[in-house]
Amino acid sequence: MINVTKTFLGDKEQFKQYIDRIYETGWLTNHGPLSEQLEERLKAFLGVRNIVLTSNGTLALQVAYQALGIKGSAITTPFSFVATSSSLYWEKIRPIFADIDPHTWNLDPARIEACIEPDTTAIVATHVFGNPCDVEAIQAIADRHGLKVIYDGAHAFGVRYKGSSVLGRGDVSTLSFHATKLFHTIEGGAIITSDDDLAARLRLLCNFGIADTDRIDGPGINSKLNEVSAAMGLCVLDHVPEIFAERAEIAQRYEMAFAGHLDMQKPQPFSERNYSYFPVALRDESHLLKSRTRLNQREINPRRYFYPSLDTLDYLQPQRPQWRSRALSQRVLCLPIYPGLPRRAQDQVVDTLLADLDTEHARPFASVREVADFALVPATERP
Ligand SMILES: *Cc1c(COP(=O)(O)O)cnc(C)c1O
Repeated sequence: MINVTKTFLGDKEQFKQYIDRIYETGWLTNHGPLSEQLEERLKAFLGVRNIVLTSNGTLALQVAYQALGIKGSAITTPFSFVATSSSLYWEKIRPIFADIDPHTWNLDPARIEACIEPDTTAIVATHVFGNPCDVEAIQAIADRHGLKVIYDGAHAFGVRYKGSSVLGRGDVSTLSFHATKLFHTIEGGAIITSDDDLAARLRLLCNFGIADTDRIDGPGINSKLNEVSAAMGLCVLDHVPEIFAERAEIAQRYEMAFAGHLDMQKPQPFSERNYSYFPVALRDESHLLKSRTRLNQREINPRRYFYPSLDTLDYLQPQRPQWRSRALSQRVLCLPIYPGLPRRAQDQVVDTLLADLDTEHARPFASVREVADFALVPATERP
């Protein structure tokens, strides 16, 4: 079975060496040497000032809200993974959904201001599929209304915007290092901020609020990253450049094949992509279901990220319906993309989706794959 992603496991021997060290030191968790090393290397790799490692990406969001004193309500996107809004709900912050931009699929800055209520204290936006939000427009609104900005950057590992990490934007950005993400630590996450005082407060909150052996500074939680996870992270980090390159190659092949036939996410200008996902928008839901069935018959398992639109969730009512998000969530299918995805599977994905279009519209797509392959050949080497 070809799934939407496959966890990158790195080099087993290298992982074993880290595990040997854990057995030597006996240090399994609580800010051990491997998590410290991972933190330093991630800071350098991502080019960010402070990074606080956490046990997962959901607690990273919750701890960030606590540290920033977010209360009342927050404006957020209905087109994201459920944790973006369930984390708010869990912290007793009421999510207010504002609709998305139909092209970038991110929270539409033009929709935010009308949604702000007297108790609103924050904007919580997701860089959907790694595509940076319109961070300048969002920051301008936040400044005008005295709101904090939290970016759910779970998909944005390594994404640069205007020459620097997009994770440096807003008051705080969070990452998820879950096994399904581009970079992972089995389970894990991180909180990123350029504010040193805030970073210290985040560290405190992640460790029960324990300031030192004899002092507890307020109500914290346990959201520490353990050493086995850190070891996995160190192994995966060594291969991130190849992971990026292989994903980009597959994405380029898909893009060429689907251009003009299927709707795709429009990249935010001045951004670089990490291709953590490859989403396409099919014509409508029935088309999506048909294509998914056809792919499943070929043992290919794409996923519907993100479905359903979060403004439809029972426990978050009442909400105003967010029609763009609802419409898009019915159409988007994320296709398999990961290092080592067999070329044959890529071709099958392309053929199946284009053949479905073919039967629906009776248009000749038979040669599109060849056209796509041709376009990948550098101009100088074409026949
Ligand atoms: C994966 C993900 C999360 C949650 O991260 P976990 O590490 O699984 O808790 C949050 N937001 C988005 C957008 C995600 O994709």
